[in-house]
Amino acid sequence: MTNSQLWQTILGELEVMVSRANFITWFQKTSLDSKDKNQITVAVPNAFTKEWLENKYNKLILKSLQNLYPQIRSVNYIIKTVQAKDIADYQESYSEETKPFISSELNPKYHFDNFVVGFSNEMAFTAAKAIAKGSGENNYNPLFIYGSVGLGKTHLMQAIGNELQNINKDGLKIKYATSERFTNDFIDSLRTKTTTAFKDKYRDNDILLIDDIQFIGPKEQTQSEFHHTFNSLHQNNKQVVLTSDRPPRDIQALKDRLRSRFEGGMLVDISKPDIETRLAILQEKQKQENIAIPDNVVEFIARNVTNNVRELEGALNKLIAYIRIREEIPSVKETSRLLSTLVKQPKKRTTTNQKILKAVSDFYGVAIKEIISRGRRQEIVKPRQIAIFLMRSECQSSYPSIGQQIGGRDHTTAIHSFKQIEEALRNNETLKQEIDTIKEKIYV
Ligand code: ADP
Ligand code: MG
Repeated sequence: MTNSQLWQTILGELEVMVSRANFITWFQKTSLDSKDKNQITVAVPNAFTKEWLENKYNKLILKSLQNLYPQIRSVNYIIKTVQAKDIADYQESYSEETKPFISSELNPKYHFDNFVVGFSNEMAFTAAKAIAKGSGENNYNPLFIYGSVGLGKTHLMQAIGNELQNINKDGLKIKYATSERFTNDFIDSLRTKTTTAFKDKYRDNDILLIDDIQFIGPKEQTQSEFHHTFNSLHQNNKQVVLTSDRPPRDIQALKDRLRSRFEGGMLVDISKPDIETRLAILQEKQKQENIAIPDNVVEFIARNVTNNVRELEGALNKLIAYIRIREEIPSVKETSRLLSTLVKQPKKRTTTNQKILKAVSDFYGVAIKEIISRGRRQEIVKPRQIAIFLMRSECQSSYPSIGQQIGGRDHTTAIHSFKQIEEALRNNETLKQEIDTIKEKIYV
């Protein structure tokens, strides 16, 4: 594994852990400068980044590295002004990975054949495919694909472009850009007085693919320009495809007239993949990487990395890096350790009997004093039994100790109360809801 590959793996992991804006700001122009036995040196573009990484991200970076190389003790940051050529090389290697937002053109690795279709993305896939078949007569324009990060929107969008390019060779004009690129190009064109060239670039196309339209920005002028671009294409029966992390109605910055244009097309969403799809994706990626990972390890990943496909890929890449560096297959336990930053460790929730008494008392409007009293009125007995039930189920307190805390009662009383509530819960939906509400209160 080369330094650059190693750094890609680490970046891949960091990318899913920090926000997109932070990732671009702090990590985009970093590289791995050198690696010794106990230390690695990361090259950063300026002092500001150096300071930021040292103070804010050092722990995270170190931890990711140590998963692969436990002997690494520290990370050193040095400032290296990046040469233009380095950036080009870097971006090339970078966009070969899963980082489409840096490249503004189509990435050939995204096609329909390597897109795994499941319940969560079937509609979007079918719609994208239909456009790629392109009869020329558009049934829906624009196609608007939305869903949260890492679920395959860019992949599908670029697959449309790649497929059309393959079928038509050079016959079709296809333009892919992120909405930020569109915005920047537009602003540049105003500055350099090249608005005609700008218009040609975006309007003179058979299909326009604009990724992450939610970042178009609130500026009237940019949105207006986009509106004109859209209308021009639409009128000429040219297809527009848009992606977004949310539906048009939820993009705050969007002017109403653009919003209604978007809603006038076809909206399809992509949701989180289910377990079957996650497994299938992991199989597909193994095939691509030409590596075979034991089923139990694959299943562990599929069960535990559930947020999105990018994380799933990140997990698999990490495992592949491990296998190639160590030349051994990790066990499930080792995998779990390796992926600790991606796999959600269920946070152990704790509460106390005191909190339970307080919550029950608040909920039923009965004083704690009364709950633990000798009183036998139904309004008191029920809260008392519920408190006992929760002390047992949530705090695993022993029956004698519960009895003790509820006014010095016998442990058999505690057992009896617990059983009564347990029994009642089987067919009393209202009671279940009451207890659920109380539970929410005792864990804050
Ligand atoms: P988004 O644009 O929605 O944030 P991407 O299209 O960039 O997500 O997808 C993130 C990564 O996951 C990409 O490498 C992509 O190839 C992969 N991916 C997403 N969905 C699938 C899928 N259904 N099958 C195969 N790979 C997928
Ligand atoms: Mg994307």
